[in-house]
Amino acid sequence: MLDYIIVGLGLSGLAISEELDRRSKDFVVFEDNSQSSSYVAGGIFNPVILKRFTPAWNAAEQMKVAIPFYKALEKKLGVEIIYNWNIYRRFHSFEEQNDWFIASDNPKLSAFLDPELKKNTNSNLIAEYSLGKVLNTGYIDTEKLLDNYRGHIEQQGRLKLEKFEYADLKVYSDHFEYNGISSKNIIFCEGFGLKKNPFFNYLPLRGNKGEYIVIHAPDLKLDFAVKSSVFLIPLGNDYYKAGATYDHQDKTAEPTEKAKNKLISALKELIKCDFEVVDQIAGIRPAVSDRRPLVGSHPELDNIYCCNGFGSRGVLISPNISRMLIGHIEDGDALDSEVNLERFTKKHYKLVNS
Ligand SMILES: Cc1cc2nc3c(=O)[nH]c(=O)nc-3n(C[C@H](O)[C@H](O)[C@H](O)COP(=O)(O)OP(=O)(O)OC[C@H]3O[C@@H](n4cnc5c(N)ncnc54)[C@H](O)[C@@H]3O)c2cc1C
Repeated sequence: MLDYIIVGLGLSGLAISEELDRRSKDFVVFEDNSQSSSYVAGGIFNPVILKRFTPAWNAAEQMKVAIPFYKALEKKLGVEIIYNWNIYRRFHSFEEQNDWFIASDNPKLSAFLDPELKKNTNSNLIAEYSLGKVLNTGYIDTEKLLDNYRGHIEQQGRLKLEKFEYADLKVYSDHFEYNGISSKNIIFCEGFGLKKNPFFNYLPLRGNKGEYIVIHAPDLKLDFAVKSSVFLIPLGNDYYKAGATYDHQDKTAEPTEKAKNKLISALKELIKCDFEVVDQIAGIRPAVSDRRPLVGSHPELDNIYCCNGFGSRGVLISPNISRMLIGHIEDGDALDSEVNLERFTKKHYKLVNS
């Protein structure tokens, strides 16, 4: 009898697996490559919303758990996944510069916003109103992390690279049976795939498609990330990632011409030199109407849980929320009401199931 079945190995399933491993629990993970959000993510950890210069929800607190979590994974997997570099916000006007100065005085933001402006010295970067430096930021190479983590749990015999068929799950009063596997608990971490899950598809997961292009720009010579209407992230060897787009309507997994053209136009406002688009990637962010995670138990069935709804901030949120969920299941700790999926149960579950 296993302790847990986990469905999905994106950032959510990975963080749940790690917490269970830390507690010496037995588990198996199903992964069918149907979603790609965690793989294509920019991987940026940044506690400031750079559009408005406001603190992101709980981000400074989340960083205290997330950064040591990824550092421990670097050690465990023997690969480098954390890249600490500064993000520079391009200003579009003197008003924005002024807003930045005001924000950098805010005690919640002062650790992250450098009040001194950086003059642009790169002749191929268009930044006449200078740049503001965001401190203590960086990115996690999520693709490298997930590839290596897959290898790690595969070696332990814990990975099933196959689709989890909901119809084949047999629910008993004190355990589950699934194709010869018995388990006490099951946690669904399917990202936008939750929409197909009959146990939790009543939840208001909206999905928000995001696309990046990868460009080759040999003359750009930029060695820091810039946030303007798009993020421009150096990848090394004159390659850069530019994006991402936000689309609430399109829920398809494939890259689109529309997003590509939009990103090219935005880039032409940001850089002067020639560039060639060499790749394009897309994924659906598991976004929720109230912009908070969806975590907790099924409204009627025991021991079935959901860990989802990380929107555009899975890197910082997933280690915190997974720890909270497993603490709730194993130790009876309370779930934060802001993230507990119960907030939707009354309205949505009863409506869908009446
Ligand atoms: C373009 C883009 C850029 C982003 N940039 C950032 C960023 O810079 N920083 C940041 O913090 N966040 C970013 N995000 C958001 C981040 O990617 C998400 O918050 C996070 O990856 C969600 O993780 P998840 O594990 O919940 O979902 P997913 O990554 O979607 O993982 C769910 C997994 O479950 C699997 N699955 C689903 N159904 C089944 C089934 N029935 N059987 C087996 N397996 C199944 C899927 O194949 C998938 O691997 C970005 C997202 C996008 C799309």
